[in-house]
Amino acid sequence: MSLNYVVKYEVIAQEKPNVIRHCRNCKRSTEYVCSDKFRVNANQKVVDIWLIYKCMHCESTWNYPILSRVHVNRIDPILHQKFMNNDQETIWYYAFQINKLRKLCDDVSKNIRYEIRKKKSESVPNEMTIRICCKYDVGLRIDKLLAEILGISRSKVNTMAKAERFLLYPNVTMKDKVIDNLQITVKGNWML
Ligand SMILES: [Zn+2]
Repeated sequence: MSLNYVVKYEVIAQEKPNVIRHCRNCKRSTEYVCSDKFRVNANQKVVDIWLIYKCMHCESTWNYPILSRVHVNRIDPILHQKFMNNDQETIWYYAFQINKLRKLCDDVSKNIRYEIRKKKSESVPNEMTIRICCKYDVGLRIDKLLAEILGISRSKVNTMAKAERFLLYPNVTMKDKVIDNLQITVKGNWML
């Protein structure tokens, strides 16, 4: 039985994606920044919820529809409270619904700033498995992440990939984006 080394890294998004829309006030396409605030409107028992975005250059706002005309009884009370309290985790969840935002806006900014945090520190083993925890899609490619984690160049990562030194689970390619629970086994000592 071989010893299996597992080192955990977390990719932590440092910002929420901006959306690109036409601003009526600026009279051009601009970036809108998430305001970190929901707007909750209750008309009798019917509730509308938006997440507010603000133009980077002026005070124009855009309301990102989260719930439209939903009966109050159909909203989970805990979630409802989170909307009322501008709960940060809930805001981040909706701000990273990138596919949904892309349909509502002209585009969504890529290349989110992120930080990589090592969860456990070990000496350099001959084979190790890296397990990635990545809550939000930051648009980071696997080869770039590996270069950062291993402290080597991206071309070295690609040379190692060609030599089949990496085993990815699930079965994605080095050019794919980092996903949550991604597991990468590195064979041999990459420092050499
Ligand atoms: Zn504007």
